[in-house]
Amino acid sequence: MSKLAIDFADIAAAHTRIAAAIHRTPVLHSRTADQQTGAQLFFKCENFQRMGAFKMRGAFNALSQFTPAQKAAGVVTFSSGNHAQAIALSAQELGMQAVIVMPEDAPAIKVAATRGYGAEVVLYDRYTQDRDAIGRQLAEERGLTLIPPYDHPHVMAGQGTVAKELIEEVGELDLLLVCLGGGGLLSGCAVASRHLSPGTRIIGVEPEAGNDGQQSLRAGQIIRIDTPQTIADGAQTQALGQHTFPVIREYVDDIVTVSDPALASAMQFFASRMKMVVEPTGCLAAAAALSGQLDIQDKRVGIVISGGNVDMRRFAELVAPLA
Ligand SMILES: *Cc1c(COP(=O)(O)O)cnc(C)c1O
Repeated sequence: MSKLAIDFADIAAAHTRIAAAIHRTPVLHSRTADQQTGAQLFFKCENFQRMGAFKMRGAFNALSQFTPAQKAAGVVTFSSGNHAQAIALSAQELGMQAVIVMPEDAPAIKVAATRGYGAEVVLYDRYTQDRDAIGRQLAEERGLTLIPPYDHPHVMAGQGTVAKELIEEVGELDLLLVCLGGGGLLSGCAVASRHLSPGTRIIGVEPEAGNDGQQSLRAGQIIRIDTPQTIADGAQTQALGQHTFPVIREYVDDIVTVSDPALASAMQFFASRMKMVVEPTGCLAAAAALSGQLDIQDKRVGIVISGGNVDMRRFAELVAPLA
């Protein structure tokens, strides 16, 4: 077997590197959720992370390992979501230039937020232009280093610090539920969990409409799908990565899916019972536990809430739908 992209030592080193730049997010409990499921649920709340999602961990870990020459030139990435803002904020804190390639029709508020962190935004037409090609061209022309949203060992190691913190705080778990898009968070958390709590069953959760991860795990090879239509916009990826898939294949026990209505009802639960704003993608793992599809009776279950960035109008529509 070829060597995996990361091991636990990489995650421990990442944690030391990023500790001062990130929040150690709280682990919250809900008696209502425990009663409803018959389990003991530990919610690791990355919706309270800096810039609103775990992406800050991987981005800061990657950028803080740039050589002086890389740092002088800067970083480039393509994303319209949380990774863009994480790269922009990390670059600003580390004193380097960031160039973010975003679709022309990205929400104005996201473009503004990214510029607000001091990044240069390069817009492209998502129907006629290839963002990877634009990113690579910018990297080449301007000597920028490309940091992709999930398929990079430094990004994966940073994301793994989420599960490291969770298990260090609450002890060994029976089950760990983690959402996935490209699998950066899941692969990192799986490595941390296998090391710190070897008996834990690790389960990935993705949207029903975009179950490429589940298909890939079952097929034993990366399966690519069309961009899925789901309210979980952070998990609209088409395929797992060359680095993330082998780790997931090695350590993840299963991947399950949840429907958009189940995500909306988890958002309602978090808002009404726990007074938290969680974005649709951030609800994936919790929705799997709350929907009753898993056998979690009497188990200690870790649940990663991955982020809380959602437009307020959209949030209102989802938590209190008009009849
Ligand atoms: C990026 C993101 C995900 C998916 O993470 P991957 O590492 O691509 O699997 C899940 N939730 C939120 C909030 C995200 O920003």
